[in-house]
Amino acid sequence: MKIVTVIGARPQFIKAAAVSDAIIRSAASGNAIEEVVIHTGQHYDPNMSDVFFNEMNLPKPKYFLNINGLSHGAMTGQMLEEVEKVLLEEKPDWVLVYGDTNSTLAGALAASKLHIKIAHVEAGLRSFNMRMPEEVNRILTDRISTLLLCPTQTAVDNLVKEGYDNLDIKVEVSGDVMLDASNLFVNHACKPSFDIPDTFILSTIHRAENTNDASKLKDVFKAINEVAEQTAVVLPLHPRTKSFIAKYDIKIGNNVHIIDPVGYLEMIYLLQNCAMVFTDSGGLQKEAYFFKKFCVTMREETEWVELVEHGANILVGSDYNKIKEAYSKGTNAKVDFEKNLYGNGNASDLIVKSILDFTIK
Ligand code: UDP
Repeated sequence: MKIVTVIGARPQFIKAAAVSDAIIRSAASGNAIEEVVIHTGQHYDPNMSDVFFNEMNLPKPKYFLNINGLSHGAMTGQMLEEVEKVLLEEKPDWVLVYGDTNSTLAGALAASKLHIKIAHVEAGLRSFNMRMPEEVNRILTDRISTLLLCPTQTAVDNLVKEGYDNLDIKVEVSGDVMLDASNLFVNHACKPSFDIPDTFILSTIHRAENTNDASKLKDVFKAINEVAEQTAVVLPLHPRTKSFIAKYDIKIGNNVHIIDPVGYLEMIYLLQNCAMVFTDSGGLQKEAYFFKKFCVTMREETEWVELVEHGANILVGSDYNKIKEAYSKGTNAKVDFEKNLYGNGNASDLIVKSILDFTIK
């Protein structure tokens, strides 16, 4: 069986690393399964892309489309066109897509128009905020997929509410592949080369709803600068956020350590050693939980509602006062990090099995 995987953004490289590992193990155990990787080029900086291929044993992309730096429409359109060409050439049985980026939607749409089966990993997640480009991408991708691999029961419930019970689309709970990725690489954590304060908050900010709005981004950094006077902040900076900080002339406090984006192995080290996480990332909210750290989420809503219900995560948007209050709450929070919210760490194996079994039917 031939699977073409379409990936292009940082979190997809991390998720795909876990599933590719499972595909390789499945092939080694005698299953006729083969993966061909298309990298759309959505993220292309060495520290947003190459580092993950080098350190996570990801199959080298057979196709690199180099599509980036465009508006959403142009980017998605060009990817659709180029992925279609590859699919016509490769004639796969399945197209495998991850998450909610433009690469996800373009990969799924190209496959759907050629009547190729589509497996969507991280299906069923909803923020219920249609202004998020990610929300539009995930809703449309789910609807045209063949097999929806959901990380949580909440995700399945979302699909049921949208009527998926009545559609000819298979829905399964696989657990979360990011848990598999953390388990796979936890013993390879790597200390970054820069000086790290003894006690620090780990922070990342890159969501368009924060970066593209000057007053929101200013409020976020005002709060972070003040929190950093009590606990240092280490912030691997996404290239988009970097350019908006310069554009809005935002001042960064002395105790905020801005660094370039790091590889996943360094990220694991930072997660293991931080006091708390401040982020607007989707994936990092869950990783904070895997590494037993309280998470302050600088968004109005989250797809990972179980973290909030469980008391491990608090939503603060870009509100200066809420961010500062959440820091105090996080310092004293007593959270049970043992509860299994994201499966057993075998999501990748279940995903590969679901794809193989589906074909046999
Ligand atoms: N990450 C990383 N290096 C960094 C920042 C994040 O390896 O400098 C990892 C992080 O640990 C998580 C993933 O990137 O596994 C999250 O990606 P991102 O926040 O870009 O996307 P989102 O999860 O919000 O879609």
